[in-house]
Amino acid sequence: MTNCCDSPAKPSRLNCPDCSAVSLSVGYQTLIHQLKHPNNAALPNKAYYFCGSRSCNVVYFDAAAKVFGVDDLRVEVGQKSDSDNRLVCYCFDVSYACIQDELHTSGVCQSKARVMEWTRAKLCSCESRNPSGACCLAEFKRIEKAFEA
Ligand SMILES: [Zn+2]
Repeated sequence: MTNCCDSPAKPSRLNCPDCSAVSLSVGYQTLIHQLKHPNNAALPNKAYYFCGSRSCNVVYFDAAAKVFGVDDLRVEVGQKSDSDNRLVCYCFDVSYACIQDELHTSGVCQSKARVMEWTRAKLCSCESRNPSGACCLAEFKRIEKAFEA
């Protein structure tokens, strides 16, 4: 058994107990901002992981396979939705539909340029706003690539 003073380094990824997808660790700060009361209030401060699989209902889990599903979060989880209105950028409120609209209209995603500019200026708050706790720019790139294909 380990105690609090000799805990091993936290793994940075773990497989989702439901869908087995490789899931990245996500900060405690993200969960206490994302989870509804009272789950956020009762949350132990330890390692959690975010499952990004679209078809899987699990959003967060810990090493003991305690899970939080889409209904446990305060916002709709865009990563788990097929809706055109799903959010891609939670910090600056950019939806999938907005990105598609910009690409169809001008071939350029102005929102991405704005997100990059604001991110450079350190105005983003991905760790609190995005359920994944991570930056959305990779998702913008995936959407652009799919549009060009
Ligand atoms: Zn999963």
